[in-house]
Amino acid sequence: MGLSKTIWSKPAEYLTRTQPEHPVMFFAPGVLQDTARRFIDGFPGMVTYAVKSNPDEAVIANLAAAGLRGFDVASPAEMLMIRRLAPEAAMHYNNPVRARSEIAVAVALGVKSWAVDSRSELAKLIEMVPAEGAEIAVRFKLPVEGAAYNFGAKFGATQELAAELLARVAAAGFIPSMTFHPGTQCSDPSAWGAYIHAAAGIARQAGVRIARLNVGGGFPSHRLNGVRPDLGAIFAGIGAAVDKAFGADRPALVCEPGRAMVAESFTLAARVKAVRDDEHVFLNDGTYGNLDELPVIGVIDRTEVLAPCGTRRTGAPRPRIVFGPTCDSVDRLPGALDLPVDIAEEDYVLFHGLGAYSLATNTRFNGFGEVALETVLALH
Ligand SMILES: *Cc1c(COP(=O)(O)O)cnc(C)c1O
Repeated sequence: MGLSKTIWSKPAEYLTRTQPEHPVMFFAPGVLQDTARRFIDGFPGMVTYAVKSNPDEAVIANLAAAGLRGFDVASPAEMLMIRRLAPEAAMHYNNPVRARSEIAVAVALGVKSWAVDSRSELAKLIEMVPAEGAEIAVRFKLPVEGAAYNFGAKFGATQELAAELLARVAAAGFIPSMTFHPGTQCSDPSAWGAYIHAAAGIARQAGVRIARLNVGGGFPSHRLNGVRPDLGAIFAGIGAAVDKAFGADRPALVCEPGRAMVAESFTLAARVKAVRDDEHVFLNDGTYGNLDELPVIGVIDRTEVLAPCGTRRTGAPRPRIVFGPTCDSVDRLPGALDLPVDIAEEDYVLFHGLGAYSLATNTRFNGFGEVALETVLALH
């Protein structure tokens, strides 16, 4: 969608002037650029952005402006957009299963970094990708329990197979690397530590010195008032784990955050359609819209409620069941959300930190799903 024509000082200014009846996503480019710099300055390696988490053109353009030099892409459409908006940036094509037609597009667009997790897909790459200067990263998985999403359920070779693939990558003349994805919203550095340790073991087993280790995304964003993620501690933990596991064979590092890069730079404003019999709150956005991810990953309690005139509701918190606008009964936020007791019809509920997996997965189900993107200087 790109930047809006008017830049507002903050969400309340736009909401009071225009009284929108559809959900609004407020984007603060300054917040995104600050986050990008925090990653670039703090992470001990190359920082790329997982485009799927929020592919809005304004996001890509601001990340490029902040100095980001690489993007994790998964489809020809994402690659074409990156080439257009950030022509100099590296593209890491880390979707491990690709049609031959997609591989051909990537080769033509100059992709030099690929990820793979199977013999059949490695064979396709060896056949179609010129080896000179091209990196193939073997993606492996560890058995994980209790993660919100089990990323290993779809992608990732076992450690045995990873060692075999890595040896084949090196023998075919490609630059051998490794990658993994620890999950999402991981707040404990040990989530990365186990993978880094395993990566060193796989490289030893294959007898291959890897050029780079891509430690994936999964960095946490700030979702709950009471829990502030500590990215610095995670960066330090990753660096220390790599030193310990690889010693003198330390590979260069790459990371590919989505959520933690983009979440904080967007605030969603959803309007209260009804407070049904003083009980349930119905919003004009829900789990088929920008709040799609909440049932899987948990609610965001960083909310604020504004009256139509822009005044902040300050009533005591009362737990409410919150429904979205569609007629589907799963269109409900998980659990209950503490909202001010004086919340009323036509108020706006602001959800802070909602930039990831929101706009990207919004649907038109039941005729809803219209959303405006407005640019603001500050989100509070
Ligand atoms: C989705 C994805 C990411 C980004 O994950 P976040 O949890 O948003 O940081 C990074 N790498 C891969 C391979 C992914 O599929």
